[in-house]
Amino acid sequence: MKIIMLGAPGAGKGTQAKMIAAKYAIPHISTGDIFRANIKNGTELGMEAKKYMDQGLLVPDELTVRILLDRVAQADCAGGYVLDGFPRTIPQAQVLDEALGKLGDSIDYAIDVNVPDENIVKRMSGRRACLTCGATYHVEHIPPKKEGICDNCGSPLVLRDDDKPETVLNRLKVYHDQTQPLIDFYSAKGVLRTVDGTQGMDDVFASIVAILEK
Ligand code: ADP
Ligand code: ADP
Ligand code: ZN
Repeated sequence: MKIIMLGAPGAGKGTQAKMIAAKYAIPHISTGDIFRANIKNGTELGMEAKKYMDQGLLVPDELTVRILLDRVAQADCAGGYVLDGFPRTIPQAQVLDEALGKLGDSIDYAIDVNVPDENIVKRMSGRRACLTCGATYHVEHIPPKKEGICDNCGSPLVLRDDDKPETVLNRLKVYHDQTQPLIDFYSAKGVLRTVDGTQGMDDVFASIVAILEK
């Protein structure tokens, strides 16, 4: 099963993608996590990506596509995967489509986690991330067991540099300009499914499972 998560920054794509990955035993692939791991390790790729991420801009397609295609070519992706944060532009979606097409394959579902802009800024200011294992929490809605500490790995949790309100507003604008057109793109292919992302985390997940198991 090959799944794409669509939705604004902070809509809950990552949270749901991790739950899908666990339930169906497929890899969760987040381009944002790949970039952050590279930034943390001080790689050249990380330094390049950071220039864009800190401003709330998208990393150029060429770089992003190369990383994603390398990742999905790995052996653990043979039985499917859930993509979180990719594609974010029409050209990215076209490249993925072509690469899959060459293998006689295609995306099964593009799940749009729908959350209005008004809810987003609030969600992002409460997001806390573990840069070691990629886990994500929310200070009010999804708190860690011990304040400021990751449940999974014990690392300290941080407010991401790009989750500050000024940057979030930029990211929302970029989302509407460059990523939202993907909704029509996948709708035309007949694979778009929309869920109400304003529900609690478990209810959103139940809606997604109902779609995948229909
Ligand atoms: P969020 O979880 O808020 O949706 P991500 O972790 O997916 O954010 O992405 C963080 C940042 O990484 C983006 O704002 C962008 O700068 C960069 N990025 C991630 N995925 C892509 C992509 N597919 N194309 C371009 N830039 C990306
Ligand atoms: P995205 O990957 O789309 O940027 P995340 O999954 O990181 O979004 O979620 C953004 C923030 O909202 C995080 O702090 C997360 O813990 C929280 N969150 C995720 N799903 C929900 C939900 N259904 N209700 C309330 N908060 C949520
Ligand atoms: Zn962790």
